[in-house]
Amino acid sequence: MSDIYPWQQAFWQKLLHSHRFWGHALLLKGKKGTGKYDFARRLAQSLLCNAPAANLQACDQCASCGWFEQNGHPNFYQIVPEAFTAVAGETAEKEENDDKSSTATKKSASQQIGIEQIRKLNDFVYLTGHQSGYKIILIYPAEAMNTAAANALLKKLEEPPENVLFILVTHQPQHLLPTIRSRCQQLALPLPDVATSSAWLRQQGVTDPEECLAAAGYAPLLALQLAKGDNAQSFEQFIRQVADPKRLDPLLLAEALQQNSLPVVVNWLQKWCYDLISYRTTGKVRYFLKQLPAIQTLSNQLDPLACGSFFRELNNKQKLAHHPLNPRLFLEDLFIAYAAMMQQR
Ligand SMILES: [Zn+2]
Repeated sequence: MSDIYPWQQAFWQKLLHSHRFWGHALLLKGKKGTGKYDFARRLAQSLLCNAPAANLQACDQCASCGWFEQNGHPNFYQIVPEAFTAVAGETAEKEENDDKSSTATKKSASQQIGIEQIRKLNDFVYLTGHQSGYKIILIYPAEAMNTAAANALLKKLEEPPENVLFILVTHQPQHLLPTIRSRCQQLALPLPDVATSSAWLRQQGVTDPEECLAAAGYAPLLALQLAKGDNAQSFEQFIRQVADPKRLDPLLLAEALQQNSLPVVVNWLQKWCYDLISYRTTGKVRYFLKQLPAIQTLSNQLDPLACGSFFRELNNKQKLAHHPLNPRLFLEDLFIAYAAMMQQR
């Protein structure tokens, strides 16, 4: 199991030393791609560890840590959407794992947490595990709970079982029931600064950390995936093509990217168009630092109104991208529309 991330160290110290104020439910919130899921797992492992270190982190050596690392700890229960399980790896951050180019399994798997998953908690809480020990339930991401699941969880939070700690992790606390939020101790995880993130990315072997960070909206784990993850090549190909719309082949690009998560591809295009508009209006880009020369040229040529309305249309596309009938056709339409927009003067 990995250590917690450098930008979380100070927060860790503060949190672990105020441990007794937690109550029975924590809500960890923060930006996507900053390591909340890994933090929550490390927290759970450390609380279950038989011999935690001086900084209260798990020892990684005791029997409890062994079970935890093999995903077999009897007093730890994790609830995630089915789609997440389908791509779950070891310890990698899954916050942006919509974004891993991935298997067919994932496509049909549910993105939601359903009521059955919450009901199964009863077995965990009352029937299994070491009855005497502390039990921890991790729910990630909490906003993935559908209404029925959220209501079922609410009942449990209202009458919390003894010796159970719920850890809810969310990117979008505003999408949770207010009644759930109010029953949790809410904690905002720190947003890493650029220097810390860049240093960390460099340690992971990323050669242009600042550019990757910008392209990832300053979320370091997402930046790492863009640089070295499964879809790094797709991302490069995407940039090459959209940066040269005269030679863009929408059909080829759609074919090349159809295995990627579509919301992620739409998000790339949203960021790209954001930069085109931003450069045109303010002379600055936010995401694609490395492509500044291309953006300068393109944004001076484009029709700002057409680009603005295309940018707004991408919001609708983003909603549809979660349930496309046919990924390749969806992407073809998207890139044909982009190419057409770029030809308007
Ligand atoms: Zn241990």
